[in-house]
Amino acid sequence: MSDIRIDDLPVRDELRGQTPYGAPQLDVPVRLNTNENPYPLPEELVDRITERVREAARHLNRYPDRDAVELRTRLAEYLTDTTGHRVGRENVWAANGSNEVIQQLLQTFGGPGRTAIGFEPSYSMHGLICRGTGTGWISGPRNEDFTIDLAAAERAIAEHRPDVVFITTPNNPTGTAVPPGTVRALYDAAQAAKDSMVVLDEAYIEFSHGESLLGLLAGRPRLVVSRTMSKAFGAAGLRLGYLAAHPAVVDAVQLVRLPYHLSAVTQATALAALEHTGTLLKYVEQLKAERDRLVAELRALGYEVTESDANFVQFGRFEDAHAMWRKILDRGVLVRDNGVPGRLRVTAGTPQENDAFLDAVRELKKEQT
Ligand code: PMP
Repeated sequence: MSDIRIDDLPVRDELRGQTPYGAPQLDVPVRLNTNENPYPLPEELVDRITERVREAARHLNRYPDRDAVELRTRLAEYLTDTTGHRVGRENVWAANGSNEVIQQLLQTFGGPGRTAIGFEPSYSMHGLICRGTGTGWISGPRNEDFTIDLAAAERAIAEHRPDVVFITTPNNPTGTAVPPGTVRALYDAAQAAKDSMVVLDEAYIEFSHGESLLGLLAGRPRLVVSRTMSKAFGAAGLRLGYLAAHPAVVDAVQLVRLPYHLSAVTQATALAALEHTGTLLKYVEQLKAERDRLVAELRALGYEVTESDANFVQFGRFEDAHAMWRKILDRGVLVRDNGVPGRLRVTAGTPQENDAFLDAVRELKKEQT
């Protein structure tokens, strides 16, 4: 039995030889590698979650609300309140993390014989979920400074006529925000090429210097804005992602969602969290200030730092980024090697965690000189 390996199983050809996605989950004192919010949930919210979950537990003999109506209503209110653009329940869909939202979008609009494009380096799961859904992946270009090269991107869309276009703003792992004009132009290019869907991944938008591009949804029925409670809300363990789009898009993803995909416990927890958005989001300003401090201090140390609108910072350059990653780890700080040549990414943590990281890179800089 035990000598049977993956390759002995009839796995799909495109999965052969691949490795699963995953940042190392190492037990080190300072973990700044997965763009989580470093602050635990406040006690008053833990109490409210407990109450809501206890109530939900009484009904666990029944399936949960398949359409998550109350949750979608509250998410729509959150979007309306924070962006000033009216969003209704009919515009919102929720799933287990925005990864599942993206998977449902690709199951609906991608799939065998279809393609999606993203502008890399970007969030690698876009390409990986394409692989999982049998969607062809096209790697589009970026400029040297990691902004999207609009002319090249428009050409790539015209040439490949992808069914789905991913735009990540702020982009992961670079932190780069995409200007509204670029999104508008890429949407137009996508419509001219093929009436394609455009997915705007706004996982980190609450940390941006600029505003959400949710307002672009008006008059753009093939635009989808994807969001998550994993980052700014500090609830990565909850697994709650959501999208805002034209109601027809919400109807379309119902065709692929598994029945009762969002458990009653998840819905109860997310609803409790949404009662406390003020408390949850209070760390956002602090994390933005820490992000700006990381940028400034890394630059002062002589590192090349990419402009960031997210809760993380990309820095370099290193001849061997992986060797540098290891040296920082040896000093008790886990950062991320996303495979971008010569660069590493550090998540903004608590002031103490960031100090530990800065001390580590300061020491390493001294060693090099
Ligand atoms: N989009 C981007 C750009 C991300 O960086 C991440 C998480 N790292 C996600 C989506 C997925 O987040 P989640 O599934 O936790 O909502």
